[in-house]
Amino acid sequence: AAGDELVVASNRQPYRHDYGDDGEVTVDRPAGGLTAGLDEVMRRVDGTWIAWGDGEADATVVDGDDTVTVPPDDAENTYALRRLWLDEDEVEGYYYEVANQVLWPLCHAALGTVESCGDAWADYRRVNDQFADAMADAATDADGDPLVWLHDYHLALAPRHLRERTGSDTGGRGDGPVDRTGGADPTLAHTWHIPWPSWDTFRACPNREALLDGLLGNDLLVFHVPRYCENFLRSADRGLDGTAVDFDAGTVDYRGRTTTVRAAPMGVPVDRIREQADSMEAAGFRAAFRKNRGIDRDTRLAVGVDRLDYTKGIVQRLDAFERLFEERPDYRGEVTFVQVGTESRSAIPAYADYQDRVEAAVDRVNDRFATDDWRPVVYTTEMISNEGLAGLYREADLAVVSPIRDGMNLVAQEFVAAGGDDPGVLVLSDQAGAHDTLGEWAVSVRPHDTEGFAAALDDALSMSERERRRRANALADGVEDDDLDSWLVDVLGAVARVASADGGVP
Ligand code: UDP
Repeated sequence: AAGDELVVASNRQPYRHDYGDDGEVTVDRPAGGLTAGLDEVMRRVDGTWIAWGDGEADATVVDGDDTVTVPPDDAENTYALRRLWLDEDEVEGYYYEVANQVLWPLCHAALGTVESCGDAWADYRRVNDQFADAMADAATDADGDPLVWLHDYHLALAPRHLRERTGSDTGGRGDGPVDRTGGADPTLAHTWHIPWPSWDTFRACPNREALLDGLLGNDLLVFHVPRYCENFLRSADRGLDGTAVDFDAGTVDYRGRTTTVRAAPMGVPVDRIREQADSMEAAGFRAAFRKNRGIDRDTRLAVGVDRLDYTKGIVQRLDAFERLFEERPDYRGEVTFVQVGTESRSAIPAYADYQDRVEAAVDRVNDRFATDDWRPVVYTTEMISNEGLAGLYREADLAVVSPIRDGMNLVAQEFVAAGGDDPGVLVLSDQAGAHDTLGEWAVSVRPHDTEGFAAALDDALSMSERERRRRANALADGVEDDDLDSWLVDVLGAVARVASADGGVP
């Protein structure tokens, strides 16, 4: 029977408790492919998920071990959500400063946006310690040797910290190994969902040795595409004394342990997205969206859907549309570009600035070309339901996904998954991880090449029906073959191979 054998750790929690308007406790399920996909896995295996309890009412529903049983709507298939409490300084240092103003821009090769932060590293270390403590507790309670699956750049130090608690680490931080897990020997796997930069970029990080040392506490380290694996291996080779890197095998030996580095491109829940796009709600949303935004029934739609993040290339995309309308007046009145932008990390100046730049670019293009009955750009920051979003994807003649750099990019895949009988064209930046798998059938763009980007938009808009269908079918096959389930199987399979090579479970 499945006991506490899977332990998931991520910054973001799968369920959040807050207070509603009448002061009652509400539970919210954050949207997003990853948490939803992992939630399904956890329902099947009955493990523990460790995450930051950032909801206002989170503390009111937990037991003495800071744990709440979830999901709230399914008493049959439950698992434990263990919440960690961060104080204001920790949120600032760990989350806002190190994770989002150092590691995020660093890994997206935006060195000019990396902030200096001295004290924040202590917060980052402390929060990673808290995660390691909670993971050690969960490992102690597990039947047998558990699998601990960590996610993302918030938790780079936690694998090493956990090793120091399991007694399996021979080189502790001075006080020697302390076994807090009663002899459990967990297998540690870590998925890094953002890019890993080239060594020449990564070496700009002041705490680069600690990050590498932390991540090499894992048995398995998973990136979305092979390029990031290569970059990581090079960084481990050049950036840390005592590593032995086998580039062909994709392994790093360090401190008596082998870390296997693998690529597994994350997918989306294709069947669910298709159902959502087929729903009545989606159909209603499509009609209402056109009506409310004053978009004529015959006007063709291009859509972009992004968090308002400076890596997403929204400003460059608007430049490209401006160039298109400038050079091709025949598209004026015929095509509207809809940009859905979700507010994100607005407390950080680089993000607030970016929101302003996007708005200014939208206004500029509209001021220049709008007529009484047509707007070139419709921009909205409104929250759109999953069904609404799937409807918008299906309504679109093209999706424009043009990040300056992106670990994977799920929007590109969601657009393909939502395609119906008359599928649209995907315009995709060659800087997205998703380009490695979808690039062949998308219309590729280099996001900073305004001229080339405008020409690509023209190509996409003028593509023959035959060619459009040929590409859409190939894209749909690719996205179906590599969907979210298949990604989970891939990663768990890689974990099993690493664990059995190590003599462990399963
Ligand atoms: N998303 C959403 N509403 C929005 C914008 C984005 O629900 O207004 C979702 C989108 O459907 C996708 C995710 O957020 O599932 C974005 O994932 P992606 O990998 O594209 O980028 P990230 O935001 O993780 O950098």
